[in-house]
Amino acid sequence: MSFSLPRLSYSYNYLEPYIDVYTMEIHYTKHFAIYTENLNKSIENTNLKKFSIEEILKSVIDIPYIRNNAGGYYNHSLFWKILTSPKRSLLSESFIFYIEDSFNTVESFKTEFTDSAMTHFGSGWTWLSICPKTGKLFISSTPNQDNPIMPLVNNVLGIPILCLDVWEHAYYLKYKNKRFQYIKSFWKIVHWAEVFNSFKYHIILY
Ligand code: MN
Repeated sequence: MSFSLPRLSYSYNYLEPYIDVYTMEIHYTKHFAIYTENLNKSIENTNLKKFSIEEILKSVIDIPYIRNNAGGYYNHSLFWKILTSPKRSLLSESFIFYIEDSFNTVESFKTEFTDSAMTHFGSGWTWLSICPKTGKLFISSTPNQDNPIMPLVNNVLGIPILCLDVWEHAYYLKYKNKRFQYIKSFWKIVHWAEVFNSFKYHIILY
């Protein structure tokens, strides 16, 4: 079995003006497609082919080539899912309850997430994850294509439900070096219903 390129559930211009059509198309057809292709190549003829993407992420931290491509595949697959048009970016009272349970207020959650994304040096990702020990939500940032599923030194393990790509390829065409403007735009297009579904799914499993 190999990993197929998950289809986008929207067109490249759907997130305009917050994410421009040109960035979206290059990000999906070039960056994401290449991670997927390289992931498949890197696990060809290995027993990893029988593994789920999560199982691969947990087991290949010492093989950088597979780790980077598996991370690139997983991280972007989640990122496309948690974005939507601003009209559909609605945070429900029920999810607010859980966000407040972990961060006191929605504003303090957004501030902490934004600060983590702003202060992350170089390429990487910022995450909202469920702590597997407590069931609470927490924020972290990881370098390159690493993510909270990977059992790495200094990585706080979690089940990711929301993520933000802070690689320059994700925003440079439109925002240049203004990462803060990109993050501000991100908050307009979060698919909260999808994030909450993922939260409920994992909390039930948990
Ligand atoms: Mn990316």
